[in-house]
Amino acid sequence: MEGLPGGGSKSIYNFGNKSEKERFEDVEGVPLSDLSLVAHEMEHQYDKEKGNQSDATDSNNADDPSEQRAVKTENEARKLEGLPLRTTYGGRKVPTNPQNYIMPTPQPKENKIKKK
Ligand SMILES: [Zn+2]
Repeated sequence: MEGLPGGGSKSIYNFGNKSEKERFEDVEGVPLSDLSLVAHEMEHQYDKEKGNQSDATDSNNADDPSEQRAVKTENEARKLEGLPLRTTYGGRKVPTNPQNYIMPTPQPKENKIKKK
């Protein structure tokens, strides 16, 4: 994931990379799905867009609150798909309630689709 301050953010991932899926399953002990991966990366983007990365570290490991939050959101996708929940990052346990987790806020009323 990368981006410039105020300039949005972007993620690059090759969904056809079979060896990455196999590596993930070996390390984390749960299957990787496209939706769970998208949810994980979207949490990173959401954190960035909300200015919620002050506690993020450069280490990208189980101690990084940014990764802990991404795993928590990833698990919401896993629940939808009926997949086992991910409890680790890099094979190490992550907390289920990471610090500074922001739930997405409801859309303002004027943005909601009106039912007729
Ligand atoms: Zn991540």
